[in-house]
Amino acid sequence: MRVALLSDIHANRVALEAVLADLPRVDELWVMGDTVGYGPEPAAVIAILRERGVHLVAGNHDVAVATGAGLERFNDVAATAARIHRGWLGPEEKAYLSSLPLTLERSGVTFVHGSLREPLWEYVFDERSAAPSFDLTKTRHLCCGHTHVPALFRATAAGVRGVAVRPGQRDALDERSFFNPGSVGQPRDGDPRAAWALLDTDQGVTFMRTAYDVKATQLAMRERELPDFLIARIAIGL
Ligand code: ZN
Repeated sequence: MRVALLSDIHANRVALEAVLADLPRVDELWVMGDTVGYGPEPAAVIAILRERGVHLVAGNHDVAVATGAGLERFNDVAATAARIHRGWLGPEEKAYLSSLPLTLERSGVTFVHGSLREPLWEYVFDERSAAPSFDLTKTRHLCCGHTHVPALFRATAAGVRGVAVRPGQRDALDERSFFNPGSVGQPRDGDPRAAWALLDTDQGVTFMRTAYDVKATQLAMRERELPDFLIARIAIGL
């Protein structure tokens, strides 16, 4: 089975559509949360994902936009954008976001926004934070989002080891692995192109990048009066 792994789209419709146009034929789309928050078009992104029948888990921004819960844990610009999205989305869209599960298991992979220890909030940036999820999952592999940085951790006999990832790199998944495709809508690894990954359950996971019209998203953000900091950061991918 071939699966496109997407995460942290953050209401960036232009980036999402560029990635969808770039996809090879896949059997399923899995999305690791933070579909809304930060960007200019939350309703359009929700509509596209629902139409595509994606398998989707909740992120901290999805819950905050849907219910207001956790807004106090956000920095100022994140909270501002989430409150703006709360004003734009209707009750039906918020009910949909509220209904999303925290974790899903498909084809031997558990996926979650943050970590299995703290599904909405923990950042898995290093081996120490990756290790507990290997113990908590029933599946061979794991996938998360939340950090906006593509990553790969392997459970080896010597413990959990991080592996440097670059676009086009394929990992065969011979060992138990915990991977993060990076962010479609707001990458933070210094590369502004949309990040995603292709999972082939026989051949492994390949990290991918897709260029999109960043200026179009910035223009939409400016028109919709989102914070300047959020508009600037997508051009540099930080
Ligand atoms: Zn996010």
